[in-house]
Amino acid sequence: MGSSRPRDDAKAAPTEAVPSVSASDRAPRDRGRDPETANFETHGDVAVVTSFDGLKLKDDLLRGIYAYGFEKPSAIQQRAIQPIISGRDVIAQAQSGTGKTATFAISALQRIEPSLRETQAIILSPTRELATQIHAVVHALGDFMKVNCHACIGGTAVGEDMRKLEQGQHVVSGTPGRVFDLLKRRMLRPRDVKMLILDEADEMLGLGFKEQIYDVYRYLPAGTQVVILSATLPPDVLELTSKFTTDPIRILVKRDELTLEGIRQFYVSVEKEEWKFETLCDLYDSLTITQAVIFCNTKRKVDWVAEKMKEADFTVVSMHGDMNQKDRDAIMQEFRRGTSRVLITTDVWARGIDVQQVSLVINYDLPLSRELYIHRIGRSGRFGRKGVAINFVKTGEAKILRDIETFYSTHIDEMPMNL
Ligand code: ADP
Repeated sequence: MGSSRPRDDAKAAPTEAVPSVSASDRAPRDRGRDPETANFETHGDVAVVTSFDGLKLKDDLLRGIYAYGFEKPSAIQQRAIQPIISGRDVIAQAQSGTGKTATFAISALQRIEPSLRETQAIILSPTRELATQIHAVVHALGDFMKVNCHACIGGTAVGEDMRKLEQGQHVVSGTPGRVFDLLKRRMLRPRDVKMLILDEADEMLGLGFKEQIYDVYRYLPAGTQVVILSATLPPDVLELTSKFTTDPIRILVKRDELTLEGIRQFYVSVEKEEWKFETLCDLYDSLTITQAVIFCNTKRKVDWVAEKMKEADFTVVSMHGDMNQKDRDAIMQEFRRGTSRVLITTDVWARGIDVQQVSLVINYDLPLSRELYIHRIGRSGRFGRKGVAINFVKTGEAKILRDIETFYSTHIDEMPMNL
């Protein structure tokens, strides 16, 4: 694919350590890892711009950023926004909850020409909920600009997408299947698209989505800028990105910096599957202090645990990919509002979803990959807040946890009685 684009065969530039901002710049809040001071390896010429004013953004965009409540760019925003705005292909990796969404949302809003009522930026992400959330962020940051942004996601009426696209949507945030479908039907006109953003890029370039991403990419004009982001970018994915990026700037967080210091990680030995449920019930009071997300590995398990919890008179909600979109939307809305505090779900919720009040994540089942572990626990501890992750570990699973500890140079201790 991408035969019209030059391959980046050049060797990566020598690693250049970018100085992090001084500790005295840290916000005085009770924070875990400060999102302003992460440690990055960058390949390419990356300046660190420490204020939104310094980014020389359009006035109405700057107004939108401040009105949204942002005062200062986070570490990834300080490094990645400027190269993206300059039109370079960028590969950006930073911990979950440190502001990647705003990084590309601000960049896309800066890059588009509002007077041209055509799609100029396409943002692809793996789940409908995430595409909807991204749409909301673009919409909010662009509140003072004359821009249209539309979420093109599966499970909704195509007719509505068609009507919206006919009006002209500067930015489209969508899931790959629906976006491809709209391109194929010529409802989404690609002629003026100048940037393609892949959020959660390692998931998007994994087996489930890769072909669809290529399909979308083939429709876009030669020379379309490509921006790739995720908290986790394993080497095979980084390798793959060279197929459709040109001389990219890479801003990568070091692996041993990837877990957030603000998230304390524990395990509980449950010995066997049957003991997990009782352990969860014992923890229920802690779950409801703020908000909690409980991850199971299958939809069936989600249904089963949710049902059992309800039978035992605990208030919980549940969500997974087999539910219809209306029910998924309703649960999301309830959980975002805080009307429901305990959500039982699958990995459909593992990536990107931002609900700041979530302070506890429980892995009822251990995740099936190292990457998913990072994404799941990153649903808590958003933007420097404190969080707790608790892993239920059956006999024989201890080595999975040890592997995660070693890989990310982190500590997962036994859960104390007085959590
Ligand atoms: P990521 O995509 O890296 O997981 P998000 O972009 O979802 O992280 O950001 C996490 C949270 O931090 C969001 O609630 C977002 O509104 C907030 N946030 C992002 N950038 C800033 C900033 N510069 N100042 C304050 N809050 C921010």
